Amino acid sequence: MQRRLTKQKELILDIVQRSCDHPTADEVYAEAKKLLEQMGLSDKADYYPHQLSGGQQQRVKDDISRCTVYRNLHQLAEDGLIQEITSIGQFPNRYDFNLSHHYHVVCNECGKIEDVEVNLSPLDIREVESTGFKVTGVEIIFRGVCPKCRTKEI
Ligand SMILES: [Zn+2]
Ligand SMILES: [Zn+2]
Repeated sequence: MQRRLTKQKELILDIVQRSCDHPTADEVYAEAKKLLEQMGLSDKADYYPHQLSGGQQQRVKDDISRCTVYRNLHQLAEDGLIQEITSIGQFPNRYDFNLSHHYHVVCNECGKIEDVEVNLSPLDIREVESTGFKVTGVEIIFRGVCPKCRTKEI
């Protein structure tokens, strides 16, 4: 079933598609807020009077909730428009616009993800299915320490 694309969902899809570093939901949320503020599309204004002193109250535009972003990302992944990368240990899920088959390398220290192009010899699924299981997917993730975290270690 194809769900309709709402304006917010379109924006979220666009952010994931333009981002090349597998953003987390929080990063997508931050970007969405920034874009909405820039475009001046926000029509709902929130006040945070306690954060500022005197008459310096600042109006903060907030048109999209964290919750909406999480839900929309999840639905986009379910509809096959983006890929949800879930199995990265203690780090939050990340999202990938690249739907073609590719592998990821994940940093154990900071959770950064990059695409890797490697040729792995074809897996013998039949061998696995001789257990009686019907195999529906395989996940291969390379783990390591990214260049930035490696310099911190020295
Ligand atoms: Zn790292
Ligand atoms: Zn990727």
